[in-house]
Amino acid sequence: MNTAPAPANPSIYDVFRLGRTDGATPIDLTIGNPHLKPPACYYEALDATVRDLRAMPENGHGYSTGGDPFGLCRNIASDLTQRFDAPFSAKDILPTVGATGAIDVILKTIVRPAVDVCHTQAPAREPDEVVVVAPYFVEYLNLVRGNGAVPVVVESTSDFQLDVERIAAAIGPRTRAILVNSPNNPTGRIYSEASLKQLAAALEAKNREFGIRILVIEDAVYDAIVFGNRQVPSMIPHYGALVRVNSYSKSLSLSGERLGHLAVHPAFASDERRAEFVADLNLNMRMRVVHAPLLQHRVVARMPLHGLVDIESYHRNVDRLHLTLSSLGFGVGLPEATFYLWAVLPVEFDTEEEFRALAHDGPSPLHYLPGTLFGGQAYRRCVRFSTCVPFTEIERACARLHEISAARRQTSGAQR
Ligand code: PLP
Repeated sequence: MNTAPAPANPSIYDVFRLGRTDGATPIDLTIGNPHLKPPACYYEALDATVRDLRAMPENGHGYSTGGDPFGLCRNIASDLTQRFDAPFSAKDILPTVGATGAIDVILKTIVRPAVDVCHTQAPAREPDEVVVVAPYFVEYLNLVRGNGAVPVVVESTSDFQLDVERIAAAIGPRTRAILVNSPNNPTGRIYSEASLKQLAAALEAKNREFGIRILVIEDAVYDAIVFGNRQVPSMIPHYGALVRVNSYSKSLSLSGERLGHLAVHPAFASDERRAEFVADLNLNMRMRVVHAPLLQHRVVARMPLHGLVDIESYHRNVDRLHLTLSSLGFGVGLPEATFYLWAVLPVEFDTEEEFRALAHDGPSPLHYLPGTLFGGQAYRRCVRFSTCVPFTEIERACARLHEISAARRQTSGAQR
């Protein structure tokens, strides 16, 4: 049974471990690792790619020599141009090792080291800062700290929209960037167009006040998993100093293949400055992680990039679990997007650890993630369930939740 507090600096690997159990048949609703297979057109493109590679006289598996030899960046640029009515160019797009690799390389490029190791006389600078909106994706703090910056965490509003006033108050002369994740992991909320517009105006004002240019890192990895024909607004129409990050981990169920990209906004800066920035990003990527797997470049370059997710299947899971959680007294809203349910524990549980002890007990332990992983003590009564599992697992989870609730009622009855 695992009732240890969540680790202080959790990484995605701790999260993987939290999902493990010595129970016989665990119900694992921890991480967002889609169980749905990639769409049929992925396998068609994969088959065709393998045929082509086999038939090539030369080795098609060598190092990347740069550029866009398979047309992946062209494919991404035309998808973005169409969706956002902004002239994205293939040369401003970099395939990366997942969205994680994209965020990492952006931060590496914009964060200046606080300590100048080459000039022993140089005074250490105050570190750069990156604004992170809570609750946030578990890995954000590690990415910011790992690149030498300090995360400045700002909580979202009570309905999980951006709290622009608080964000503005958290910005100072050392702010380099803000991470904006919509649709949001873990809350499943989509940030409204109005709040994004307001954020853009607030950033412009702070840029003028401090003579800086705050970069928006727009993380859109869930923009293909959206319920009920909702649109996902972007900051692209409102703010030019922006890099959009996405990947195929969720939208094509390719989380293990590690393909993502970053796209620099067409209005990021003058053509010359933008080219310099892209060159720096390229250099840092080669220094850090080499390049994203080329087999996947070849395959995804041949595919449509949108509208391929089996939304109904995710919707069904989310609805089913939501129904059970609300009937048992959890504070939980229906997500607008993603496959996560973010819930506040029913009042009868004093702490998350108490709930966890019951959830992990017995031959069918239920695994989920504690809210503290997504933003510390402010979320100590919250839990996140990931529903990208077969429906039968959702049914098991619902049955288990009823058992946990009954067990709690029994112990409180015994104590009275
Ligand atoms: N950003 C968010 C908000 C996520 O939830 C995740 C993964 O769960 C990632 C980025 C990482 O995506 P990738 O697998 O493309 O590195």
